[in-house]
Amino acid sequence: MKIHEYQGKEILRKYGVTVPRGIPCMSVEEAVKAAETLGGPVWVVKAQIHAGGRGKGGGVKVAKSLEQVKEFSEQILGMQLVTHQTGPEGQKVRRLLIEEGADIKKELYVSLVTDRVSQRVVLMASSEGGMDIEEVAESHPELLHSIAIDPSIGLTDAEAAGIAAKIGVPEGSIADAVTNLQGLYKAYWETDSSLAEINPLILTGSGKVIALDAKFNFDANSLFRQPEIVAYRDLDEEDPAEVEASKFDLAYISLDGNIGCLVNGAGLAMATMDTIKLFGGEPANFLDVGGGATAEKVTEAFKIMLKNPGLKAILVNIFGGIMRCDVIAEGVITAVKAVSLNVPLVVRMKGTNEDLGKKMLADSGLPIIAADTMEDAAKSVVAAAAGQA
Ligand code: ADP
Ligand code: MG
Repeated sequence: MKIHEYQGKEILRKYGVTVPRGIPCMSVEEAVKAAETLGGPVWVVKAQIHAGGRGKGGGVKVAKSLEQVKEFSEQILGMQLVTHQTGPEGQKVRRLLIEEGADIKKELYVSLVTDRVSQRVVLMASSEGGMDIEEVAESHPELLHSIAIDPSIGLTDAEAAGIAAKIGVPEGSIADAVTNLQGLYKAYWETDSSLAEINPLILTGSGKVIALDAKFNFDANSLFRQPEIVAYRDLDEEDPAEVEASKFDLAYISLDGNIGCLVNGAGLAMATMDTIKLFGGEPANFLDVGGGATAEKVTEAFKIMLKNPGLKAILVNIFGGIMRCDVIAEGVITAVKAVSLNVPLVVRMKGTNEDLGKKMLADSGLPIIAADTMEDAAKSVVAAAAGQA
């Protein structure tokens, strides 16, 4: 799960990380009022979307007067902000953060990620922070420093001071950097983050260390014990089909292709997508209806897939293990009758009560294309999507 920058900064502030004063806003009037409250002479108007690279896309602007705050807020609020993380269609800006302007002397980079290889939280840092960090990581990897943190001890003073020195924090600001880095680590640990990135972490003219940006991702499997994080969820920023699916406990991810997939089990769902691709097709989604797929769940899954205007065909691929094929067949029949199915449907089922399930589908009178093997199923659905069914 992702959150906005201003929410990330709220978390950081709570853990003792220094962030600029700022006020989130939903309208231009609020933005001007926020700027008045903060006081000048310099403000930054920042688009709040769940994607980075906002500065380069025109979503972060420095204002030197209240008139400029108004002007930039008008420009940014409601714009379709395109960054390297949004895709070409961009993301609509619905919120702003009005922040006091900071006196930037140097932009640094720090981030934390959970590293599966070392099985530890890894702190990465660079002297070359700012809007081109991806470029730095690629062409000058030697400028990126990292340490794996021992979970039983946490980030020690010596480790934090060591990495701060490596990225060029001057002697007089090291203690300040240590406080900020340790606060960041504690925030990461206690909120079950999977990524926390401060880019830039800055040194000001007077030697203070401040987090100017904040990006957090959280482990979705931990949200049950993080109610304060869940409260930050902004559904406007999420894929509507995925939001809808999550209400029915369906694991659904939107993809770019035109073949809808309805599968039980994440492994089989991935194998199904691979097989579709092998035969020249493109999946429109990943969908795991889970082990206890009821007729209601299957119906909702169909509805969600059918909302996609680009959908050309659907493949249902079910392994009847604990779930019996006749139950699935009943679910598919109920679902197809409930929705107005306007694309070809290929169904493959294997396992318990397979023959009964197949007979039910055949007897239903519905235009279902039956398939036996994975290859059969994939070839049929690819042909159907191409209009050759
Ligand atoms: P993004 O990473 O999405 O581009 P940032 O929050 O990092 O957005 O902002 C982009 C750049 O804008 C920063 O690298 C920094 O140079 C400048 N900036 C951001 N916030 C402030 C601020 N409060 N004061 C001064 N400059 C800022
Ligand atoms: Mg940034």
